[in-house]
Amino acid sequence: MVARLGGDEFVILLEDVSTVEDVIQVAERILADCHTPVLIDDHKIFVSTSIGIAIGSEAYHEASNLIRDADIAMYRAKAQENNSYKFFDGEMYLEAMNRLTLETDLRKALTQQEFIIYYQPIIRLIDNRLIGFEALARWQHPTRGLICPSEFIPIAEETGLITSLDSWMIHQVCEQVADWRNRFPNHFPIKISVNLSVQDLHRASLLQDIDQILNSTRLGGDIIALEITESTLIEDIDKTIDLLTQLASRQIQISIDDFGTGYSSLSYLHRLPIHTLKIDRSFVGNMHLKNPNYQVVNTILALSKQLGLTVVAEGIETPQHLQQLQTLGCELGQGYLFSKPLTVCDVETLLTGSTIKVETLKALTEEA
Ligand code: C2E
Ligand code: MG
Ligand code: MG
Repeated sequence: MVARLGGDEFVILLEDVSTVEDVIQVAERILADCHTPVLIDDHKIFVSTSIGIAIGSEAYHEASNLIRDADIAMYRAKAQENNSYKFFDGEMYLEAMNRLTLETDLRKALTQQEFIIYYQPIIRLIDNRLIGFEALARWQHPTRGLICPSEFIPIAEETGLITSLDSWMIHQVCEQVADWRNRFPNHFPIKISVNLSVQDLHRASLLQDIDQILNSTRLGGDIIALEITESTLIEDIDKTIDLLTQLASRQIQISIDDFGTGYSSLSYLHRLPIHTLKIDRSFVGNMHLKNPNYQVVNTILALSKQLGLTVVAEGIETPQHLQQLQTLGCELGQGYLFSKPLTVCDVETLLTGSTIKVETLKALTEEA
């Protein structure tokens, strides 16, 4: 029996199956058939298919549960590879439940003030001077403890909660910096970077929001930088240029984050009012002399020089990384070699000193 559930989802009920191989055969036949392109008005249309399979058993009392499990498996197939099938297993169910719980918890987390901000030092590589921090969100979950962004940012993006989180981050960071500037004036100016999601760029109230917080904290725009991931920038290029130009007119710097991992059209790069490229840590981490990554880093540095952009290398973990980046003339960097992201308390210990030394950073990192 075949039924269309809605949209592009179909359900097939196979009866009289005796072995798993019977099911696999059907799934493979469907995949092979769908692989043939469909000809519509002289256009070849390619369809990709993902199949989730749940095997009925006495444990199922409701047909809807069987469909639910096939659905979970289908999403898994879709996430892993196009044109594939996946059998449902108990682990998937646990994961799906876990995710659902996280999603519900995440909705509450903002109002319950469960987010905290860590600050990772950004260092000038020629003299190891601290020039700023990157603000990174952490979720202090009431029962699960500290949760890292890789676990909750994708859910926040999917549910649209990311814009509320990012707006909260900008407010908190500005209030924090205003306080630090009062208490530790000799360390200023330092700059704090905040990460934005592509959804923030589509939010009509972003500029208003930023103006309001800069006004109320009496900070100039030059105190913050906004990091935007490379691939999201070129989605609606004219609108993006317009928004970034308005941000730049407030002296807010724009950094392209994870540069090299996405796809930025080089023809747009010079049209964007950006200030900094952040080289993704996947390049820095695997950088050895005569290795392709070394050349990639070298090329990004040459490109930025041509375009008049500053470069921050991410993920500097060893003295070798540092030394190579220094040789290549990279200006700024961040990474565990200098410091892991720090709590507010650690940052304040750091700012209490008259000059900031890399050794102080290391001691704090080791404690953390
Ligand atoms: P990102 O903006 O590229 O941030 C750098 C990430 O690299 C951070 O991970 C940082 O802890 C990690 N890192 C820094 N130095 C090293 C190193 O030497 N070695 C290694 N292995 N890792 C290093 P984190 O804090 O887990 O954040 C992950 C990503 O989540 C961030 O990548 C950013 O894209 C996103 N994110 C974090 N906070 C926010 C936020 O408030 N809003 C948005 N939209 N995204 C955020
Ligand atoms: Mg970043
Ligand atoms: Mg990055």
